[in-house]
Amino acid sequence: MTNTPSFRRRFGRQLETIAASKSFSRMADHWTEQLRCPTCHRTGTAALSQEDDDDIPTADSIPDGFEVITTSYGIDFICSSCRIRVEP
Ligand SMILES: [Zn+2]
Repeated sequence: MTNTPSFRRRFGRQLETIAASKSFSRMADHWTEQLRCPTCHRTGTAALSQEDDDDIPTADSIPDGFEVITTSYGIDFICSSCRIRVEP
């Protein structure tokens, strides 16, 4: 049992890492996406966030000229003028 102290040290450090990652993951993810309409070339920046227990992200900020639509697998942005999906 000569390696027990070193095992405890390693195990303790692992627990600290898990605790740190858990407290971090409680925060919602926030990010932005550049939107560009392929037809009229309008551009904008949308702000999105997603909580850990949400399946799909939420649009916090939608740029002028764009709209957000919810699909079965997430959200998409469409150009208000052209009514087509923009490429993120
Ligand atoms: Zn457009």
